[in-house]
Amino acid sequence: MKLLVSTRNPHKLDELLAIVARPGLVLLSMREFPDLPEVIEDGETFDANARKKAVTLALATGHWTLGDDSGLEVPALGGEPGVYSARYAGEPVSYPANNAKLLARLGDGTDRRARFRCVLALSDPSGHARTVEGRCEGVITEAPRGTHGFGYDPVFVPEGHHQTFAELDPAYKNKISHRAAALRAADAAWGDVFAGGVTSFA
Ligand code: IMP
Repeated sequence: MKLLVSTRNPHKLDELLAIVARPGLVLLSMREFPDLPEVIEDGETFDANARKKAVTLALATGHWTLGDDSGLEVPALGGEPGVYSARYAGEPVSYPANNAKLLARLGDGTDRRARFRCVLALSDPSGHARTVEGRCEGVITEAPRGTHGFGYDPVFVPEGHHQTFAELDPAYKNKISHRAAALRAADAAWGDVFAGGVTSFA
């Protein structure tokens, strides 16, 4: 069976294939469909954005499609940056500016709990979608540390660790991350689809 993944990034395809590989499962990326509509992520939740990506691209191509949305939530800031994680400090997108804004908003607050969330939506070719979610709990540091990764990695220490995501080995981060948890949940929930045994979610 063919599965379109809503990314142009070959690394995301590899990460996915490492977990959901099945005999006969062929992953397609958006690079193979140059005329696809741009999907604007304007939903109020990760779930809404992941569904919108999956459904829009499934209807445009007629393929089963996987969409994702992820970001950071800090309860002491009412869930910020949430769905605004990518552009928290405005345009142009700057990871250091996003981290600086987050640390300034938290100040010397003692409740520094945070979680990364990743929602994956799978749409059948006619636009019926389901979602799964992965989370990674942790705390926000007082200053950025480390050079690996991207986004909020330098200010996030995952539960049970002392190093930030940006200080940990990237291969190790990819095992404990919200994305890895979501991919494992997808594999458990949709194994029959990936094996080609399901024709629709209707
Ligand atoms: P996307 O939905 O995967 O594009 O992620 C949206 C934004 O969330 C990114 O631009 C980052 O700011 C943040 N984010 C998501 N996943 C991670 C991660 O693993 N590390 C650091 N930041 C992340």
